[in-house]
Amino acid sequence: MDYEGLIIRPPSEAYSLLLQVTVGCSHNRCTFCGTYRQKKFKIKPVEQIEKDLREARSYGRIEKLFLCDGDAMIIPQPRLEEILLMIKRYLPTLERIGSYANTKSVLRKSVEDIKRLRELGLKIIYLGVETGNAELLKKIHKGATREQMIEAARRIREAGIQLSATVILGIGGIEKSIEHAMDTASLLSEMDPDYVGALTLMLVPQTELFDDYIAGRFVLPDKIGFIRELYLMIANANFTDCYFTSNHASNYLPIKARLPGQKEKILNLIGSVIEDNDVGRMRPEYLRGL
Ligand code: SF4
Repeated sequence: MDYEGLIIRPPSEAYSLLLQVTVGCSHNRCTFCGTYRQKKFKIKPVEQIEKDLREARSYGRIEKLFLCDGDAMIIPQPRLEEILLMIKRYLPTLERIGSYANTKSVLRKSVEDIKRLRELGLKIIYLGVETGNAELLKKIHKGATREQMIEAARRIREAGIQLSATVILGIGGIEKSIEHAMDTASLLSEMDPDYVGALTLMLVPQTELFDDYIAGRFVLPDKIGFIRELYLMIANANFTDCYFTSNHASNYLPIKARLPGQKEKILNLIGSVIEDNDVGRMRPEYLRGL
């Protein structure tokens, strides 16, 4: 398989074949994100993707595939359909294709376009939300407003594709901690995703947010502060049926809960960790990672 640079995927795609169809991120401006800073964005040639698929066919039965890098949805519709058709042809046993997406690229597609992608195998989209606070969204250069995220979520869900929203604990620093948690809860309620994955902010050298941290302009919450944000988000969000996790390696307190069914149980658990300042139940610093 041909992989250019660092390749990442969501925890739930651990057993998926990773097929790199773009290199980097078409946006690449979020102030906290260093993942693709070294990569110049491009869409990979179809010939290279086909070569990878030919190789993957020899691996045996493959059921899940994840499209890398940052945002395969930016690929123009005809080319993306061509790639999905090719995947289907080479890997007929495939049950699910997943992809990261940003709001801007989702909004370049109509519901009909997205439905067509679902018919061709795209079953789950991981959308980077990060925060529901309008001021913070601008500050971190997310490139999307709350309203645009709600619209992107609507199109994805209407097309019958599962939506997984990613949010970042601590992205507002101490200063915006409570507003970040509360506004993210209200945005998530409006988006009503099938999954929410909460990450905990890890500062990455050579990003604007890291520079702000070094200069003292950005102050991170402490461990309990991060967990309090998690508590507030869950307590104040209302979902139809959502699997909420914080099992990413960056988190101090890994949790998994189906909401609303397990809301009370999970809030009791998180609440007890906060109340007891129970550092022993938190992931130690040396085991955290991106
Ligand atoms: S967070 Fe997502 S959209 Fe923002 S720069 Fe990183 S990969 Fe691109």
